Amino acid sequence: MNLHEYQAKELLKSFGIKIQEGIVAESVDQAVEAYEEITSRTGTDVAVVKAQIHAGGRGKGGGVKLVKSLEELKEHAGNILWMMLKTPQTPGGLEGPGKLVSKILIAEDAYRPDFDACKEFYMSVLMDRGSKRNVIVYSTEGGMDIEKVAEETPHLVHKEFIDPTLGIQGYQLRKIAFNLGLSGAAFKDMTKFVSKLYKAFVTSDASLFEINPCLKNAHDEIVAVDSKVSLDDNALFRHPDLAELRDESEEDPTEVEAKSYGLNYVNLDGNVGCMVNGAGLAMATMDIIKLSGGDPANFLDVGGTADAARVEQAFRIILRDPKVKAILINIFGGIVRCDRVANGVVDAYKNMGNINVPIIVRLQGTNADIAKKIIDESGLEVHSAIQLHEAAALVEQVLA
Ligand code: GDP
Ligand code: MN
Repeated sequence: MNLHEYQAKELLKSFGIKIQEGIVAESVDQAVEAYEEITSRTGTDVAVVKAQIHAGGRGKGGGVKLVKSLEELKEHAGNILWMMLKTPQTPGGLEGPGKLVSKILIAEDAYRPDFDACKEFYMSVLMDRGSKRNVIVYSTEGGMDIEKVAEETPHLVHKEFIDPTLGIQGYQLRKIAFNLGLSGAAFKDMTKFVSKLYKAFVTSDASLFEINPCLKNAHDEIVAVDSKVSLDDNALFRHPDLAELRDESEEDPTEVEAKSYGLNYVNLDGNVGCMVNGAGLAMATMDIIKLSGGDPANFLDVGGTADAARVEQAFRIILRDPKVKAILINIFGGIVRCDRVANGVVDAYKNMGNINVPIIVRLQGTNADIAKKIIDESGLEVHSAIQLHEAAALVEQVLA
């Protein structure tokens, strides 16, 4: 689950991290009120309008604007609110439809009072599965696309691995501040900033915290100007306050619907829909589809109870994707018997009535042979297989 920038900043602030302060607005009137409040606090007419969507690169797409007067504020707030903002990270990228902006953040100018004395860094915390540790990725090249920095100047991207049982150590904090070229008060503030950031990351069961830019201002303070936070869905039950911050309007509507049925669904780009029980089997099935010349259209784990109702919901979700040219159902009948699943598939197929893509069903496990018979005798355009390689060959055949 991802947080909006304004939510992520509140979370950081609750851990004592200095943030670029701001107020959320959902209309131009609210934006004007927020601007008056912010500018009266800062004593300047300068502020920033920032689109709140779950995607980075907003600045490049016109979703972040510095305003120097109330007139400019009204103009940009009016333009950004309700725009379809396209950034390299919105679905389909700059060629896609963009994302609707329904909230903006009116923020103080964090680069005040001396823009030229500011320095932008990149700072993130994430989990590194390879080393089984958390890692702090940081760079002197902040404010820009970190992927580009990593590609063109990899020596400028540093990593500090943190032992999860020991936590972050003092020498590691000092090494980070040193590698960022800091000294004096800024050095000290950076060690505090990273220490609090790491604590916030661990405490909130996050999978990613990314602060870009992480700013050193003219007062030698370290400030989070932008922030992106992804939380681990599987740990959200431990954080009901954070779970409440979910913004379903930012998520893929089909994925939200699937979740409400207890289906674990992720939409992908390919042409073969998959319906599988168990995440591991789903991954293996996607590999098999690739090997047989297809491309998975989705990841779908129907879970342990593949009954007719479930199978039907899963069918409906898969078939909503116009790219789907075939469906591979791969179910291992351990807890659920294969014949029940087969009946579920046949019933769902008949109930829906308008399935016009070939379906390959591979059922293995308890009563697999009875299940195959049910499918074969159904008279529907459903191909059955018991072995996975047979299923793969059938996928290849129907796509040819
Ligand atoms: P992103 O484009 O989605 O990553 O949004 P950011 O919050 O990172 O903002 C984009 C860029 O706008 C930053 O890299 C800064 O260069 C600039 N920016 C953001 N806030 C301020 C600010 O308070 N003052 C000034 N002068 N520039 C800012
Ligand atoms: Mn940014």
